[in-house]
Amino acid sequence: MALLEVLHFPDDRLRNVAKPVETIDEKIRELAANMLETMYAENGIGLAATQVNIAKRIVVIDLSEAKDEAMVLINPEILELHGIESMKEGCLSVPDYFDIVERAESIKYRYQNLDGDIIESETDGLLAVCIQHEIDHLNGKLFIDYLSPLKRQRLKKKIEKLEKQQTVL
Ligand code: ZN
Repeated sequence: MALLEVLHFPDDRLRNVAKPVETIDEKIRELAANMLETMYAENGIGLAATQVNIAKRIVVIDLSEAKDEAMVLINPEILELHGIESMKEGCLSVPDYFDIVERAESIKYRYQNLDGDIIESETDGLLAVCIQHEIDHLNGKLFIDYLSPLKRQRLKKKIEKLEKQQTVL
C-alpha cells in the first residue's frame, strides 16, 4: 500500500469531472486500499479519487471511531434527496477550514462494491452528508462552492499565503 498526495484548493485538478469505472479489477482494488490508507493517515472520514488526482468515480468513507468500518463506493449515484440539513463541514483538500453547508437530510443512493455488486441503500445524518460531499468531488465541486464568493476569495488568499510561507521554510 502507499500514501497518495491529496490536492489542495485552489488546485485546478480538483475541478476535473471523474469518469465511471468500467471494470473493477486488481488495480481498482489497490487504488481503493491506497485511498483508505491516505484518508486514515490524514484523519479524514471520506476521500474521493479526484482529490488524489485520479479521474475515476471512486469514493472511500469510514465514519467509525475505530477506523474499522471502511466503505468503498464505486460509481456512486444519488437517486433521491429528501429534507434539508445544515452541518459544519471540512475537507482534506481545504485544510483547516470549516463552514456550514446546507444539504439534503436523507438520501437514497446506489453504488458498486469492490466485487462489482450493485447496492441500493438509504441513509441520513452524517453518512448522507458525507456521500453528497464526496460525489460533489467526483463532479469537480467543493463544499466551499456553496459559500459566498467573497468568503471563498478570502479563503483562497489565506491558503495561498500559507502555502507560500511553507515553501519559504
Ligand atoms: Zn472533501
